[in-house]
Amino acid sequence: MNPTPLIELEMATKVYGSGESAFVALRGVNLQIHRGEFVAITGRSGSGKSTLMHILGCLDTLTSGIYRLEGVDVAQLSDDHLAGIRNRRIGFVFQAFNLLPHLNVLEQVMVPLHYAGIFGEKAREMAMAALQQVGLDHKWNRKVTQISGGEMQRVAIARAIVLEPDLLLADEPTGNLDTTTSEEVLAIFDKLNAEGSTIVLVTHEHDVAAHAKRVIHLRDGQVESEVLNP
Ligand code: ADP
Ligand code: MG
Repeated sequence: MNPTPLIELEMATKVYGSGESAFVALRGVNLQIHRGEFVAITGRSGSGKSTLMHILGCLDTLTSGIYRLEGVDVAQLSDDHLAGIRNRRIGFVFQAFNLLPHLNVLEQVMVPLHYAGIFGEKAREMAMAALQQVGLDHKWNRKVTQISGGEMQRVAIARAIVLEPDLLLADEPTGNLDTTTSEEVLAIFDKLNAEGSTIVLVTHEHDVAAHAKRVIHLRDGQVESEVLNP
C-alpha cells in the first residue's frame, strides 16, 4: 500500500516571461514528498530552488505539468481556496524573516491567526504555545528591534507553525545567520520533524542539508540527483 503523497509534482515546468525573453526556471520536475519527511533542496544560485518553493507554497502556478497537494490538483482550486491553503496548511520561513516592524513578538505570531478568524484569548494562547515551541515565550512582549537575528527567525518559525500546517517550507532560513545561531534554528526544525512535521528546506550549504533525511539537488531547473542521508 502506497499512501497518497503529501506533495506530488509531475513534469512540473515553470517559464518566466514569454517570447524572446522567456526563461525556463523548472524543466520537467518529478517529485514526491510524503508526510513526515524532512527534505532539503540544494543547488547553486539560479537553479530554481525558490521557484520550486513558490510552487509548493501555492504562491505561484506552473506553466505546465501538475502539482497535487494531498492528491488534489491545485490548478483546479479557486483563489479563495488557495488563500485558505496558504494560511492554514502551509507555513513559510524566509531568509529575511519577513517580520512586521511595528508588532511585538506575540503579535507577529498572531498575524496568521487573525487571517484564520481566530482572535482574543484563544489566539493569544495559540501564539504563546507556538513561541514556547521555539523557546521564546519569555520574550513575547519584545519589539522586533530588541531581539537578535536568530530570535527573529525563531519568531518567524513560530508564526509559520502556529496553525499546525501540513507542510513547513523554509527558503534559506539560515542564510542570514552565523553558524552557532544557524544550528539553534536547525535544531528547531529537527525537533518539529521528530514531532511529525513535514519540512522542505532550501539551502546551498552542505551542513544545513545534512539535517534533512533526503537531499534533492537541482541543476538548471531539473532534479540532478537525490540522496538519502545516513
Ligand atoms: P534559486 O532560488 O535556486 O537561486 P530561482 O528559483 O530564484 O533560483 O531562480 C531560477 C531562475 O529563474 C533564475 O535564473 C532567475 O533569474 C529566474 N527567475 C526567478 N524569478 C523570476 C521572475 N519573476 N522573472 C523572470 N525570471 C525569474
Ligand atoms: Mg532562491
